[in-house]
Amino acid sequence: MEEEKRIKRPRGVARLIPGKCIACGARCEASCNKDAIEMNEKGEPVINTEKCIGCRKCVKICPAEAIEMYFTPEEQKILAEIAAKEKKTGVKEVSAEEAAILAEIKEYKGVWVFVEHTEGDPAVVSWELLGAGAELAKKLGVELCSVVIGDKVENLCQESIAYGASKVYVVDSPVFHYYRTEAYYKAICYLVEKYKPEIMLIGATGLGRDLAGAVATKLSTGLTADCTGLAIDDKGFLLQTRPAFGGNIMATILTERTRPQMSTVRPHVMTMPSYDKSRKGEIIREAVPIKEEEIAVKVLEVVEDAKGAECIDLEGADIIVSGGRGMKAKENFALLQQLADELGGVVGCSRAVVEAKWMPVDRQVGQTGKTVRPKIYIACGISGAIQHLVGMQTSDVIIAINQDKQAPIFEVATYGIVGDVFQVVPALIKRIRESRGKA
Ligand SMILES: Cc1cc2nc3c(=O)[nH]c(=O)nc-3n(C[C@H](O)[C@H](O)[C@H](O)COP(=O)(O)OP(=O)(O)OC[C@H]3O[C@@H](n4cnc5c(N)ncnc54)[C@H](O)[C@@H]3O)c2cc1C
Ligand code: SF4
Ligand code: SF4
Repeated sequence: MEEEKRIKRPRGVARLIPGKCIACGARCEASCNKDAIEMNEKGEPVINTEKCIGCRKCVKICPAEAIEMYFTPEEQKILAEIAAKEKKTGVKEVSAEEAAILAEIKEYKGVWVFVEHTEGDPAVVSWELLGAGAELAKKLGVELCSVVIGDKVENLCQESIAYGASKVYVVDSPVFHYYRTEAYYKAICYLVEKYKPEIMLIGATGLGRDLAGAVATKLSTGLTADCTGLAIDDKGFLLQTRPAFGGNIMATILTERTRPQMSTVRPHVMTMPSYDKSRKGEIIREAVPIKEEEIAVKVLEVVEDAKGAECIDLEGADIIVSGGRGMKAKENFALLQQLADELGGVVGCSRAVVEAKWMPVDRQVGQTGKTVRPKIYIACGISGAIQHLVGMQTSDVIIAINQDKQAPIFEVATYGIVGDVFQVVPALIKRIRESRGKA
């Protein structure tokens, strides 16, 4: 039987809708990688229809919905034919270009986690990501793999397996002794191009953010930074959830047309997986062709952060006593320090407190501060704005003390105390001291 002739779906060209452009600053021009848009003196786009390939990027990015797709009458006729055919057969036509993209995407398999370390000392976020990656790999029915790059890092391969990886890709050479963007991103891109993973997870640390951006740019793929949730939808896409618009909404982002789907996740957002030294896994050693003389950056000296009395490890603390604007003044944080001392914890705070200069910025918990996951988080005089909650809501136990019983902090609290912090906190300290037989 003769195969039915395939109708090519016309793509159209972009066209400005008169009077709708708000001259937002040439977002449309920046989005067009075919150089089909130039801006005129009024700050409006002039679209070159000879160069336009109808990719719709400018249409999607325009905040004023000022650009539309234009189809000639002949093209409109073809579109109507395709629509009628799809209605009749119930099958949606896929363009040749779309089919090629789908075929390429299908070649990518497996969930990868980059193992961050400093001269062999692993960053805990890498193991947390193996825990999250295991869930994703299970849902997709694929392998969970880790990527270890460094110098004499065999121990990290075994650790990766103990934390759940079934396969480890390791690149071990003196050129990777210190983290340098160029060497590391080239090594990862080499592995990705060779083994084609569908998902790549990296810790949202200083190093991880630097590396993930470089890798995603080089591979021309999507990257969602600072995810607070990862899941798989029924089509097998990675659902990457993160706060957006100043934390006022949670956005779920999909990378539908490129691979790998890349996400960074802050430390302590995901749960640590179990550690089992008896687990077995495969180690694949790769020699990436990168030479020292090709790397422009040289590490001359490593200077450690000063660890003064003021420097505390908020992210690693098991107990955090955190204060908000309800503490009223800088000196009242001494009260929270007393409670923290009694419990063996540290003092954190909200951004309002940092802005009031009552506490230094390294104590701030939240979206623009630290993400913490202590065993106990005691929120004193903190209202519970979404930007604060995203930094602490996964704490094991949350105790909220607030005089306003409607405060949103109570929605995430395990235990809520409606009352005045200046009465409740001294009472707690007294009770703890009494129970320990102290005066
Ligand atoms: C882009 C962006 C990023 C942000 N990032 C962060 C961030 O990382 N971290 C962060 O914390 N915020 C952040 N914010 C700010 C956030 O929106 C809130 O403004 C901030 O968290 C409020 O701090 P607060 O709860 O201490 O103060 P308030 O909202 O003023 O709350 C004070 C609370 O104290 C209670 N209170 C007052 N007196 C007493 C008392 N005597 N006893 C008991 N309770 C009392 C009040 O009932 C109130 O609920 C960000 C905002 C934006 C726009
Ligand atoms: S549709 Fe694509 S190619 Fe055409 S002008 Fe817009 S961004 Fe450029
Ligand atoms: S993106 Fe839209 S609003 Fe901004 S300059 Fe282009 S057409 Fe105008």
